[in-house]
Order: sequence, then structure tokens, then C-alpha cells
Amino acid sequence: MLTYLSASNIYPVSQPPINNGVLAVDDAGYVKGLYSAQQAATLKLNIDQHFDGALLPGFVNTHCHLELSHLHRQIPMHTGLFGFVSQVMKNRNTEAPAILKAMADADAEMYQNGIVAVGDISNQAISATIKHNSKLYYHTFVEAMGFNPAQVETIMSKAIETQQSFKPLKASIVPHAPYSVSNPLFAAISALADDQANLISMHNQETPAEDAFFMNKSGAFLDLYKMLGLNLDAFQPTGKSSLQTTLPKLPKTKTLLVHNTQTTKADVDFAIAHHPDLYWCLCPNANLYIENTLPDVSTLAAAKLKITLGTDSLASNNQLSILDEMLVFQKHKNVPFQDLLGWATINGAEYLGMEETFGSFDVGKKPGVLLLEGMNNEQLSEQSRIKRLF
Ligand SMILES: [Zn+2]
Repeated sequence: MLTYLSASNIYPVSQPPINNGVLAVDDAGYVKGLYSAQQAATLKLNIDQHFDGALLPGFVNTHCHLELSHLHRQIPMHTGLFGFVSQVMKNRNTEAPAILKAMADADAEMYQNGIVAVGDISNQAISATIKHNSKLYYHTFVEAMGFNPAQVETIMSKAIETQQSFKPLKASIVPHAPYSVSNPLFAAISALADDQANLISMHNQETPAEDAFFMNKSGAFLDLYKMLGLNLDAFQPTGKSSLQTTLPKLPKTKTLLVHNTQTTKADVDFAIAHHPDLYWCLCPNANLYIENTLPDVSTLAAAKLKITLGTDSLASNNQLSILDEMLVFQKHKNVPFQDLLGWATINGAEYLGMEETFGSFDVGKKPGVLLLEGMNNEQLSEQSRIKRLF
């Protein structure tokens, strides 16, 4: 059985919007046809339902930490990254049932908010059951971190064990961040990534201290390492930004850089010249929550980078909603709706290697069908709402 849905506007993403268009979907949610108003009239299509609003394909959330969901509203805002990380570490000892319940709720919330696919960071296996039973598509990024070169083997074997528990779902072993991974650990991750045609995801330039550390061995990271009892005598500053120091250590496979709030034009130029397959994930609500800042979106967009959106975790966000991330950029940075929509859908689908299924209304895909209400002249507002139709 086909369902014919018409709406004031349909945004297929892969082609311009269609006023009063008609979308045909089968019972399983596969796109079977897309028609202009005129074609629909000529074909005398029987419209099952008409909506005042816009139809969009489902959203792709390329950066989440499901396993931090129980920290919702537990961590104060604007603490800066260090305050945030130490609060997360302090709060990690919650009992498993509470964590599982919070993750199940977060997964259901994402579904309700129109998210169809998630790139999810995991440090442990605890989210595996939720993912195995979810209606969402998950690609898990098992994070390896450690600044002590002597621990590389231990860290990697634990990461591989964690990765196994997500099978048969996709899971990659990835570096946490430039400042938390030793050179030998970067090398071990890269060696593995080449083998598996793996996806890489890494937190990048989330705080000014990250650049200060690599540039001239100064800033707040020194205090953090001192607190952790790390000896940095052997660490040589590079005189370069974090990204320019780290990118050459990454494999040349498809890579997502997450946050990028401190990324400059020089970093972008360097990145384009030194890596063939980069995606740039922005998580504006989390940036406002933790550091009260936003990335330089106009520089990133002007360089025609492949930008994706992420919610980050409920520890640093009040909700897991890609629409809400879009609203932040429209409100604070005047990013046009159709640009945001591409970031929210097809770019993330392409990064996850799922563009045959998600990201646009093309015949044969099963992208999810969302109704967006409360948008005027492509301007989102606090009143804009997503309803999930398929
Ligand atoms: Zn993160």
C-alpha cells in the first residue's frame, strides 16, 4: 500500500523544494515517488493526507554520547571544558539501571525528534543493548584515549573488546581528542583504521587552551595534566595549532572533526590541503552550554566544507534535537534554512556511509519522513515543531 502525502512544501534535499508537492511512501517507509502539484493533478493521485507545513527527510545526528544521558541537567552551564570534564568524571559512578533508563529515554527522544541515524561516542559497552533494540541506525565510535605511551597496548585491547560488543552494528575505534592521545596511540588507531576502511571521528578545537597547549605548551591543559600526575617534560610544543599538529597523525580515511569552535581560516586551509575526506560536525547547543561560544560558521561555510550537526550528550544539552541545533545557527549566525537542512540530513548520511538509505527524498531510500510545522518563509522559531510521520 502506498500513502500519498502532500504538504505546503516538500524539501527533498537532493533537489529544490516543491510547493504543494506529493510524496509517495510505502508501508515500510520507502520513498516510491515524488511529484510536483501539476504532476499529481495530471496523474490524478489520491492524496491521503495534506499538511500545512514542510516535509523533510529524517535528521542525522553525527555526534552524541548516549552513555552520558543520565547527566541531564546535572552539570552547571558555562564551566568551560575543564570544569565540564571534571564534573563528568565525578558523576560517572551512577548505578547501571539508572544509566540504562536514561539512555533508553534519550534514544526514544531522538526518535520523536525526527532523528534516524546517530554517530555515537562510547567509552564502554553499556549502550550496546539499547542500540541493538533501537529504531535508529547507530554507528558507534569507541574512544581510545591516553597520554602515556606505555599504555597503548592495554588501551587498544580494551577498545577492541568494547568494539566487539556492538556487533553486528558498526563500530570504529577513534581518538578522543588531540590533547588526550599519545603519538603511539594515534599510530595504533591509524593502523587499525586503514585495515577496516574505518570512519574516524575526533573532538577538535573545543577550547582555546587546546591550541595554546600545542602552540607553546601553555594554558589550562598543563594544570589538568599536573592534576592527572602526567610528566610532560618530553612534550615539545609545535608552534602550530592543535588541528595543524594533529591532522597529519590521522589516517586519510573519512574523518569527522567535532566542535571546531576555535578553528580558523588558516586551520581550514591547512586541513583541505592535508586531508582528502573531512567532515565538520558542529554542536552549537553544547558549545553554548559548556564554553558559551559558537564556531566561526561563516568561515567554515565559505570554504564549502561538508558540515554536519550533532547534539552532543544530554550532559551538555537540554534536549537531543537537531531542529534545535539548526535554530541556534539561524538565530545567532543567520545561516539559511536550506543550508542547515543539508547539514542536518544528507551530509551526515554521507559521512556515515548511509546515503543510500538516509538524507533525502530519493526513490528507493528509507530516510524517515518528518513534518515541520511553525516555520514562516524558511525562518525557524521556538514554535517550530517536528512530527514524525514515517
Ligand atoms: Zn563529544
